[in-house]
Amino acid sequence: MSVSVVICAAGKGARAGFSENKLFAPVGGITVLERTLVALTLPKVTQTIVAYSKEDEEKIFALQKKYGFLPVLGGETRTQSVYNALQAVTGEIVLIHDGARPFVDAATVLGCIESVKKSGSGICALPSTDTVAIANEKGEVQSFPARERCYRIQTPQGFFTQEIRAAYEQAINLGESFTDDSSVFARFVRPPCLCVGARDNIKLTYPEDFFVRADRVGFGVDTHAFGKEQEYIVLCGEKIPAKSGLIAHSDGDVAVHAVMDALLSAAGLRDIGYYFPDTDEKWKGASSIEMLKQVVALIEKEGLRTKSLSVAIQAEIPRLSPYIETMKNHLADVLSLSPTAIGVTAGTNEKLGYVGEGKGITVYAYALLERS
Ligand code: MG
Repeated sequence: MSVSVVICAAGKGARAGFSENKLFAPVGGITVLERTLVALTLPKVTQTIVAYSKEDEEKIFALQKKYGFLPVLGGETRTQSVYNALQAVTGEIVLIHDGARPFVDAATVLGCIESVKKSGSGICALPSTDTVAIANEKGEVQSFPARERCYRIQTPQGFFTQEIRAAYEQAINLGESFTDDSSVFARFVRPPCLCVGARDNIKLTYPEDFFVRADRVGFGVDTHAFGKEQEYIVLCGEKIPAKSGLIAHSDGDVAVHAVMDALLSAAGLRDIGYYFPDTDEKWKGASSIEMLKQVVALIEKEGLRTKSLSVAIQAEIPRLSPYIETMKNHLADVLSLSPTAIGVTAGTNEKLGYVGEGKGITVYAYALLERS
């Protein structure tokens, strides 16, 4: 059976607070609509239609050249837009999908198609984990439906084209408006069947939804020279025997310094020199791990938390492999992260340059942050 997909892209997305249609806002480098188009490019899908609004015409036609879908001008309401798009559908089955759900996966789409074949419709949905209340206009709760029977409806929603087209015909004739397709189907055809949605298949609505998906990466690097009169260095909070210590205003934990800069950079904040100036007596001999705790508090204030961390240490001396696991654990403790989400590697510089001559240590760090 041939399958068409209708992508609803004619809305304004005013709730997202963007000046233009939110579907043209980038998420991790490409626009929401392009992500949705890519997600729905599956061998089983033979036709893709995008319902768009007049003001996005230029952008839609630019995308059309790249992705080869059929653009159909939408209407004033979602109901009108879907109705217009359905007139152009050629597939026996049609899946209707919100343009603002770019993270739909192939298994969900295929499950939706199977549900149409088997049960005559497929409405992607997830059981509600929240208690649901029905309230009146004044906000007074009228009833609590049993939670086990409450579902959150997503898209895609799949139907036999003839049936959903006839249902939309009636909705338009009666001048009725609906927020999704399952309610049109329920009103004019029969109760639709639910199929399994996905937790990742969220609808990007508010500005923070766009941010959630866009993880933030940061890079940090630091170097310290040997020469302090002491018989150890501190790396990732671990005291490691050495011929001399690293010269620094603080405890010279060059690894933690690189990590802090990576975290601050990922959060779009200033560098450690700004927050912990070496002209400040407060930080003289300070434990860098204590400073790291403050950096964690700074990124938490930005609503972020560490997702993973990668640390690469370049040191000719001392030998670090016996300490790698403990170093990881110290970082994991401070960052409230599983040690499996942290990588610490160490290597020499083949006797080349200041590292190779054993004059100093350089550390590079990458941090990945997510919305907390
Ligand atoms: Mg430093």
